[in-house]
Amino acid sequence: RIFEYAPAPESRSVVRLRTAYELFIDGEFTPAESGERMDTLNPADEEHLAQVSVAGDPDVDRAVAAARRAFEGVWGAMPGAERGKYLFRIARILQERARELAVLETLDNGKPIKETRDVDLPLVAAYFFYHAGWADKLDYAGMGPAPRPVGVAAQVIPWNFPLLMLAWKIAPALAAGNTVVLKPAETTPLSALVFAEICQEAGLPPGVVNIVTGAGGTGRALVGHPGADKVAFTGSTAVGREIARSVAGTGKRLTLELGGKGANIVYDDAALDQAVEGIVSGIFFNQGHVCCAGSRLLVQESVAEEVLERLRARIERLRLGDPLDKNTDIGAINSAEQLERIRDLVRAGAEEGAESWSPQCPLPEKGYWFAPTVFTGVTQAHRVAREEIFGPVLSVLTFRTPDEAVAKANNTPYGLSAGVWTEKGSRMLWTAERLRAGVIWSNTFNKFDPASPFGGYKESGYGREGGRHGLEAYLVHAA
Ligand code: NAD
Repeated sequence: RIFEYAPAPESRSVVRLRTAYELFIDGEFTPAESGERMDTLNPADEEHLAQVSVAGDPDVDRAVAAARRAFEGVWGAMPGAERGKYLFRIARILQERARELAVLETLDNGKPIKETRDVDLPLVAAYFFYHAGWADKLDYAGMGPAPRPVGVAAQVIPWNFPLLMLAWKIAPALAAGNTVVLKPAETTPLSALVFAEICQEAGLPPGVVNIVTGAGGTGRALVGHPGADKVAFTGSTAVGREIARSVAGTGKRLTLELGGKGANIVYDDAALDQAVEGIVSGIFFNQGHVCCAGSRLLVQESVAEEVLERLRARIERLRLGDPLDKNTDIGAINSAEQLERIRDLVRAGAEEGAESWSPQCPLPEKGYWFAPTVFTGVTQAHRVAREEIFGPVLSVLTFRTPDEAVAKANNTPYGLSAGVWTEKGSRMLWTAERLRAGVIWSNTFNKFDPASPFGGYKESGYGREGGRHGLEAYLVHAA
């Protein structure tokens, strides 16, 4: 039962928070010219954590200029083998400081320490190791001339996987010889600023990595800066659209990784207990703050009751509470604003006639919390079946035939992820070939690998991150 367990909290003391964090420009920590600052807090208890600088136009200018100097100077002239050594060094320091970073990420984001420790941090290091290995291969990558870096990359990331999204952006950019200015999300800036310290520790030349903190205004200044050659954005579809419009006609390269409404398809011959684990991790991993979450369960009618029964029993055993507790499965919602978005859509689900179910789940008094929720009796017209909720809320639909499963799975403006559960290989392949989704998991869900390209169809964005495809976004090939 929820809350009935011996708490085993990870120690907060491994993180030494500073009162204020500055911008990281040209290898130095520096305040914003305006002196403006904003607060960042712990969403699990609303405790104030620290202040960070808000970068304005002059700061973004300085950061882009530093990135340009590094690109045209030391970094641009450096052979791939040397660049690779820096990336390996960064990866090693990330491993050495993994515990501290895991706790910091949990404090700033609200996600369970079990996830930051066992998923986020190991993957962050893996993305740097993987791309470190590419740096020298690119010098001789094909039969023709070696590909060239694009230049200065302006990168804007969201709050759901702060350090991992940073790794997805910075590691390939640097491996390919670019320099970067990155803006973390306003609610989760701290791990990016500790990453800046790691760049110093690794001796990375000044200007190769610059971190500017702030809210949407800072992001807008960065992606609109004429000195940026490439824009990489992960976040909401609405902001992605605005960025696509602002970049149009400027000659800047653009990749967008936006929202999703992933379908988790369970056929009647699937290993049901395994499928239930996949459904749970598909939607409750990281409180459902996952663009590729399996937020729609499509279950074959003949096994629907059975699956729902096992699913409810499994959800009742999930532990919600203190994110620093090593036993916690579900942590806090990242912000008051996100909690309000989730509540709005869940209200809409009830008003439109879907039935909601949640386990008996006392929520902590302080902080932002939402109990795991399952909607049944959902039709494709319901908002909870169409819109991205980005929270621990699952919408269940049923189907009779494989054709119907595919039609329903594809009936969304998004196309980021899907999961298929069946013991029949032919059915797996038949389904996967017909799904319009960038990532399709087979009898598993939410698995990531730096060698595997990730990205969407339709309104989920364009471009791929990870693997050889991901590197292409940061390379120019001579004619
Ligand atoms: P958002 O798109 O508003 O923010 C993402 C990043 O973009 C943040 O760093 C933000 O400061 C920055 N930003 C905001 N406005 C900008 C602008 N005009 N120009 C440049 N940068 C700008 O996302 P959010 O408010 O954090 O979350 C809203 C919704 O986005 C969520 O409910 C979810 O649906 C979706 N989302 C998707 C992902 C994903 O991984 N695909 C991640 C987070 C959020």
